[in-house]
Amino acid sequence: MRTNLLKLFVFFFIFLASLQGLFANNDKPRDRFVVVLDAGHGGKDPGNMGNGFKEKDIALSIILKIGKALEKQDGIEVIYTRDSDVFIPLDKRAHIANEADADLFVSVHCNSHNSQAYGTETFVLGLHKTAENFEVAKKENSVIFLEEDYEVTYGGFNPNSPESYIGMALMQEEYLNQSILLADFVQKNFTNELKRKNRGVKQAGFLVLKNAVMPSVLIETGFLTNNHEGPYLNSTGGQNKMAAAIVEAIDKYANTINLSNLESVGSNSSSNMPVQSQIYEGITFKIQLAAGSKRLETKAYNFKGLQNVERAREDGMYKYYYGATSDYIKINELHNEAKRNGYPSSYIVAFKDGSKITVNEALKSKVN
Ligand SMILES: [Zn+2]
Repeated sequence: MRTNLLKLFVFFFIFLASLQGLFANNDKPRDRFVVVLDAGHGGKDPGNMGNGFKEKDIALSIILKIGKALEKQDGIEVIYTRDSDVFIPLDKRAHIANEADADLFVSVHCNSHNSQAYGTETFVLGLHKTAENFEVAKKENSVIFLEEDYEVTYGGFNPNSPESYIGMALMQEEYLNQSILLADFVQKNFTNELKRKNRGVKQAGFLVLKNAVMPSVLIETGFLTNNHEGPYLNSTGGQNKMAAAIVEAIDKYANTINLSNLESVGSNSSSNMPVQSQIYEGITFKIQLAAGSKRLETKAYNFKGLQNVERAREDGMYKYYYGATSDYIKINELHNEAKRNGYPSSYIVAFKDGSKITVNEALKSKVN
């Protein structure tokens, strides 16, 4: 009788311990980076059918290749909005990402045009500056007409009415700086490594990005309507290359953001003396505070009291930088100051001979 009681106690404690483990696992481990991969269209919505190709199939194929490569990496978790040929409403896609408390939302599409236009472009949410960019958003948003109750779901949003887009840009404003970081990496990889035509990083009002509460981009991988680009995107070789370029961009992004989250630099020093400086010759580190299409005066009152902010125009957007030093310890101090002053999503960037390189690349160069 007594042993049975003992057994029961032991069992109960093991049960409690495992319950605790279960609850502990509910907290997202801080070293985990969650990426939501969103293949455009699907099911009854084929997307564009340029040259007889199907956007929904090409987008899914590229997304699955991206996912397969990312899943092999430690510390990255991949979630798909769809991994088969099914119809998913636009608002559900952002909802999946929000539920997963994701770090990044990446939507993949293919473009179309009634000309032989070609090239790649990556969008972040914002107000379109050209009629051309508005057309892309209108086309992608018009898939809501295939949804039942779309008028209720989207509160009377009309993809074809410019008025519907007013205010939308504000929804992702908090994440704009980081979204542009990924968009830049994607476009640079497409252009430098794959020699695709660069149509740039752009802003427009995509419904699928609107409700995501994390940095988010929509990649137009090229035009199916173009007689060269269509077959390229429909080929396994082309899809492999596009996927690899996007994976590399996501890795660069994750590294940049993770580096920014490191609290103490040089803490692994063997002596108790704090490290005073870490100079990287030929490298300039800066803090990217903000980015966007708005041209701001670089006065302290526009930047929460931060002095000597620098404005640069890159790829049709304004980037705002704080600090400039070859000292990695110093730039981390400045980064902490920027965060304290109200720029939690700011991050460190690195320049070599005037061109932006990743911070990882910079840190691999020799320390003085
Ligand atoms: Zn699309």
